[in-house]
Amino acid sequence: MAEPWRDVVRDAAAVRDAAAVAVDAALLAGVLMRTGEQPLSSDVVNYAPFTLLPSAVPRALFEQAYAVQLDFNLLVDAISQNKEFLEQTLASTIKVDDFTARLFRIYMQVMEEGLAQTVFLGINRSDYMFDCGLDGTAALKQIEINTIAASFGGLTSRTADVHGLVLKVLGKTEEASRLLPNNPSKGLALGIVKAWELYGSQSAAVMFLGEEIQRNIFDQRCVENELWNRNIRVIRRRFRDVFEKGSLDGSRRLYIDGQEVAVVYYRDGYVPQTYDQQNWEARLLLERSRAVKCPDIATQLAGTKKVQQELSRPGTLEKLLPGRPEAVARMRATFAGLYSLDEGEEGDKIAATAIADPQRFVLKPQREGGGNNLYGEELRQVLEKIKDTPERTSYILMDKIKPQPALNYLLRAHSPLQVSECISELGIFGVYVRQGQEMVLNEAAGHLLRTKAVQHADGGVAAGVAVLDTPYLV
Ligand code: ADP
Ligand code: MG
Repeated sequence: MAEPWRDVVRDAAAVRDAAAVAVDAALLAGVLMRTGEQPLSSDVVNYAPFTLLPSAVPRALFEQAYAVQLDFNLLVDAISQNKEFLEQTLASTIKVDDFTARLFRIYMQVMEEGLAQTVFLGINRSDYMFDCGLDGTAALKQIEINTIAASFGGLTSRTADVHGLVLKVLGKTEEASRLLPNNPSKGLALGIVKAWELYGSQSAAVMFLGEEIQRNIFDQRCVENELWNRNIRVIRRRFRDVFEKGSLDGSRRLYIDGQEVAVVYYRDGYVPQTYDQQNWEARLLLERSRAVKCPDIATQLAGTKKVQQELSRPGTLEKLLPGRPEAVARMRATFAGLYSLDEGEEGDKIAATAIADPQRFVLKPQREGGGNNLYGEELRQVLEKIKDTPERTSYILMDKIKPQPALNYLLRAHSPLQVSECISELGIFGVYVRQGQEMVLNEAAGHLLRTKAVQHADGGVAAGVAVLDTPYLV
């Protein structure tokens, strides 16, 4: 891949000056996070980690990722409405994975009762890396689609300005002018606004369902403020509050503290640790309600790693989106090799292959949020241990994607300034709204580039590994 900053990246004095400017610019722009020491208060905050320099991204792959996003929106929505597919695909997983099983149980419960919800809002982020082929050409390969609590759309709406300033300080004014504007927080908010309008109650609020510990609150505030700017009331609650104060009326309208809720935007609820018995009850109450859940439980299940693996089987996309061969081809072109570890010959074979050559693969459990996947020697050991047990079924295998590294500086509070070999992951935010059977909005709402040092196999920004970045198209 091109290295646009070759001339400055090793210039220690220039880098030091630019880094000082960059950090202050990030603080001024609001690229902020609460600190690990005080995650419940905004008295002391710091800048969210970010790269000093924007990273080169091949223009063709960037455009490909935007183009295919509308297809992925349709696909996720189609899966969420296909009970038979979800049942069949997750049947083996829910036998061994308790978290997926509990989500699935809520799904079956609300399906049996019949949905009160008629408006559906999807906010997702499809993530990719640029796989470097033997001939040196890069290909867009999907890592995963996040269908719940896809984050950093807010903070990344402010990083292009910071990187633009850094480039100017480094004497690259022309290059600075070429950085693309990017405002996912507005795009996400417009999706929420549309869903709120279609819900049809002026006095109803949008509820952000946040975590107990909210280090990344500023990211959410960016979206919240877009809603307040449009005179929509926003409330913030936790699962615990819903358990204590939430109720449904006779037509299953959702109320919290006497306030009707039109849209529930989950920024929590995707890890098992969130849920004790009371929080499971709260989740069920929310899912039973008429409120627009972003996402509803079916859409959360559509984002599991097991579903992703089944999508790569020949014929599956065609079945889910009949009559759309072009969309199917665009999506399939981004798939890396994905393999089922279900019991049987197919799973035995790929497990043996991965044990023999672990560097080729990533072993993934049904978890979100970074830091759960297994690589290399660890992959080999775990797979060796579970290969003849049902536990194997709770994982999938994926081909490891190998991007070409580039030099950059990862700016992190209290960390020394040092050059690192880095690789990047591009995410595209998708937003759609469906009313009954009619898709009324289907958009790509902006992008997120995250970059990490090559020695870290796994992990996102919240996990403390990757940092925010801005694409520089080449
Ligand atoms: P999570 O739901 O925890 O975010 P991901 O599938 O996104 O799970 O994986 C987490 C991280 O691991 C990614 O951000 C990426 O850095 C790395 N990763 C995941 N899959 C692959 C892959 N196939 N090849 C290389 N790196 C991967
Ligand atoms: Mg991820």
